[in-house]
Amino acid sequence: MKTDMKWAAFFAAVCALCAAALLLRGGTDGGRAVIKIDGEVYSVVELNAAEPHEFDIKTERGYNRLRVEKGRISVVEADCPDKLCVKRGSVKAGDLPLVCLPHRLTVEVGKSGVDAVAGGM
Ligand SMILES: [Zn+2]
Repeated sequence: MKTDMKWAAFFAAVCALCAAALLLRGGTDGGRAVIKIDGEVYSVVELNAAEPHEFDIKTERGYNRLRVEKGRISVVEADCPDKLCVKRGSVKAGDLPLVCLPHRLTVEVGKSGVDAVAGGM
């Protein structure tokens, strides 16, 4: 029984920490996705949406449907032959860029308004 309590306390502490971390960094800043096609910036999306939403990117090579969630972005559908971009799942700040090679699409996620991070005020 004692051990159970310890674990419960541990998980509660972890959850609290996560929530604190999310509040600290998350608040308004879920990061920002820079979508590039052929190396050129196509669109910049703030990942701070309260509700997930999806949108299509169509080029002469094909289309990718992107899904934006809080702090992350993924390709949920594409007509590329390898579907690697779909299999990749969602990426968040700090991850390697999401790439769809056949469509020459890359999605890089970084923090918005950062670089002057850390320590706090
Ligand atoms: Zn793809």
